Amino acid sequence: MRPPIRSIASWALVAALCTPPAAVVGQTARDAVLPAAPSGSGVAVLLANARIVDGTGAPAFVGELLLRDGRIAAVGEPGSIARPPGAERVDLGGLVLAPGFIDIHNHSTSGIFDRPLAPTQLAQGITTIVVGADGSSPWPIGAFLDRIDEARPALDVATMVGHGTVRGAIMGDDNRRPATDLEIADMTARVERGMLEGAFGLSSGLEYDPGFYSTTGELIALARAAAAHGGFYMSHLRDEEEGLLDAVDEAIRIGREAGLPVHISHIKAGNASVWGKAAEVLDRMEAASASGVDVTADQYPYTAWQSGLAIVVRSRRFQDRDSVAAGIAAAGGADRLQIVRYRADPTLDALRLSDIAGRWGVSPVEAYMRLMRNGGSGVIGHTMEDRDVDAFMRSRRVMTASDGGIGSPHPRGAGTFPRVLGVYARERGVLTLERAVERATSMPARRLGLVDRGVIRGGARADLVAFDPATIADRSTFEDPGLEAVGIHAVWVAGVPVWVDGRPTGARPGRAVRHGDAG
Ligand SMILES: [Zn+2]
Repeated sequence: MRPPIRSIASWALVAALCTPPAAVVGQTARDAVLPAAPSGSGVAVLLANARIVDGTGAPAFVGELLLRDGRIAAVGEPGSIARPPGAERVDLGGLVLAPGFIDIHNHSTSGIFDRPLAPTQLAQGITTIVVGADGSSPWPIGAFLDRIDEARPALDVATMVGHGTVRGAIMGDDNRRPATDLEIADMTARVERGMLEGAFGLSSGLEYDPGFYSTTGELIALARAAAAHGGFYMSHLRDEEEGLLDAVDEAIRIGREAGLPVHISHIKAGNASVWGKAAEVLDRMEAASASGVDVTADQYPYTAWQSGLAIVVRSRRFQDRDSVAAGIAAAGGADRLQIVRYRADPTLDALRLSDIAGRWGVSPVEAYMRLMRNGGSGVIGHTMEDRDVDAFMRSRRVMTASDGGIGSPHPRGAGTFPRVLGVYARERGVLTLERAVERATSMPARRLGLVDRGVIRGGARADLVAFDPATIADRSTFEDPGLEAVGIHAVWVAGVPVWVDGRPTGARPGRAVRHGDAG
């Protein structure tokens, strides 16, 4: 089956030309300024001969869709939908047509302004990103969302309000201690303001400064403010290694006492001490959900994580030999730690800590201490096992998220969604195509409370992705993390084609998504 590339491309051209003022899609249109709301042009389009995977997990079926005014106007069997006068018919040649993917943990907070066409995201089929995870968010929330509307990226952007962000704003540099009641009250007021300005919930990053120094009580108080406005609690747990189970329990307790859903970010069994514990983590999530705390998680499909180099030494005594040695040992050895973004010497980029130690002629412990003394760096830790990644992948409580974004030094930033569909569904059969789509669409939509996204049905937003399940694949690697994925043939945001035949169309229909707005 040969994908009907020319047909899609010609339709993209027509759609753009029909949108006043006229703009041309193609080589010259990359920088074209398109109108803010091209989906309101009234042009209807029939997407025919599609293998529809509707996002609910239901079996795929062959059918067709009518798009109008940025929405799905009708879904039906082949030949069942009457084509309105003037509507183009696009033959998808049997490609899978799914709801656009929603990346609930994305780090393009500033990158989206630098590269509003977001090619590494569109190449994955992503149509909505959520930033502000790990406790670190833009601030103020309202001003950020207004800037998104002004920037008009190719895809939609939502945000969380970050616990670390509000904690840092109130406590400044004096944050290595529990907050006082007065400080907690000030933070709570900021979380409330963030929620009122459109954040979807509270995020925390408890392995990072300044979230690391917070008590559970502080987090419960702030989560209550998010709960009062219908938000959820998203957490980079306090510990993903030795203390994983306790950290899961803490997140569940916060959800129970604050009265809101809990979402665990990039769930993993992070080092050798907890390998094989995925089932236990999932059991706790299941038990909590059965007892009234709705607990979900997201996951990227890799056995390596990425963070700051500080995270390796749990005691935070970065110049204490024993602590550093213990941290490196817990990671499984210096050859499992890959150094990235070391500003003091970019030539070391992507080398293992063991290699850097060899270059410098020192021990890995010495090398670590020197890196930290010179400003620290990023680190990619190759410390997870397939059996845990697979167990989380099979769970109905776990969805897909990249934990990366534009310019990410980890391949997950450009490869996550196609990798689940290519490696985990097609090649390894860890999950079905329908499940792989569900965990990229309706699951994050439900977590966010976005009722008209993440599913293909009449009335839903026409955020769509057409891909070939036989060829979809990630190409990004740890050495070349920005390589765009392949196999996604077309992406629509609010009915506007933003990605056709391997490149952005130049259309920028994206906008800020505010919690509480309809859709
Ligand atoms: Zn994180």
